[in-house]
Amino acid sequence: MSSGIRFDRVSVAYGRTTVLDALDLTVEPGEVMALLGPSGSGKTTALRAVAGFVRPASGRVFIGERDVTALPPHRRGIGMVVQQYALFPHMRVEDNVAFGLKARKAAKSEIAGRVAEALEMTGMAAYAKRFPRELSGGQQQRVAIARALAVRPGVLLLDEPLSALDAQLRSGVLAELARLHRELPDVSILYVTHDQVEALTLADRIAVMDRARLQDCGTPQRLYRAPRTEFTASFVGNANLLAVTVGGAGTVSFGGFELKADTGE
Ligand code: ADP
Repeated sequence: MSSGIRFDRVSVAYGRTTVLDALDLTVEPGEVMALLGPSGSGKTTALRAVAGFVRPASGRVFIGERDVTALPPHRRGIGMVVQQYALFPHMRVEDNVAFGLKARKAAKSEIAGRVAEALEMTGMAAYAKRFPRELSGGQQQRVAIARALAVRPGVLLLDEPLSALDAQLRSGVLAELARLHRELPDVSILYVTHDQVEALTLADRIAVMDRARLQDCGTPQRLYRAPRTEFTASFVGNANLLAVTVGGAGTVSFGGFELKADTGE
């Protein structure tokens, strides 16, 4: 199922504090949009508004053509992965992955097929009978991704999915996510991170957040070459510190990762 995400002037407040201020943002079907910004800028709140875990004070959220603002999370067609993988420790990998499907009361044969497919897709098929404690952090996060994919979501919400991993595991899972994006061209991905390299590596476009507001949004190339605000310049510019190499054909790499191709924006 192919469905984008649209925030239509979405505001969220806790008490008197506005933590998301009239966000207007569209994630196209099949696109990876990174929400990039410092801690506390409102990124997770935006993602949770799509998931249905926070109710906007005003504005509307659309997934595909559907206004989902008032729908409960399980009816939104989303898969979600959070920082700490949050697997059930007493369940085998295959049962963790099946969890969302069982909750939706899918038929047994369908569950088995989808679990196998999701584990295959994330390279975890050989670990189906293991318990989470028998896996590395990177493998556990792959299982969490498999669990999100098993429901065949139109939209995948990833909240700092690499931040609990050490550097080596992080680049492995990052490469895995890039591959999944190529294999699942219909799935829209909203990717929350404070890490410029992750955003620049994975995203088709980056939405830069600061203090509850969207500051800038564009392709990695555009943000890097022609930031619209000083904040974007300083924030994206920090990636300069991370070994930037400009190749012969105008390609730009950060810390060994090649930047996504310029789409002419
Ligand atoms: P980010 O993901 O960019 O780090 P968040 O969206 O998590 O930012 O948080 C934005 C702001 O909202 C922060 O100031 C945070 O303290 C506040 N906040 C988040 N969740 C809650 C909550 N449940 N109750 C009160 N304040 C919250």
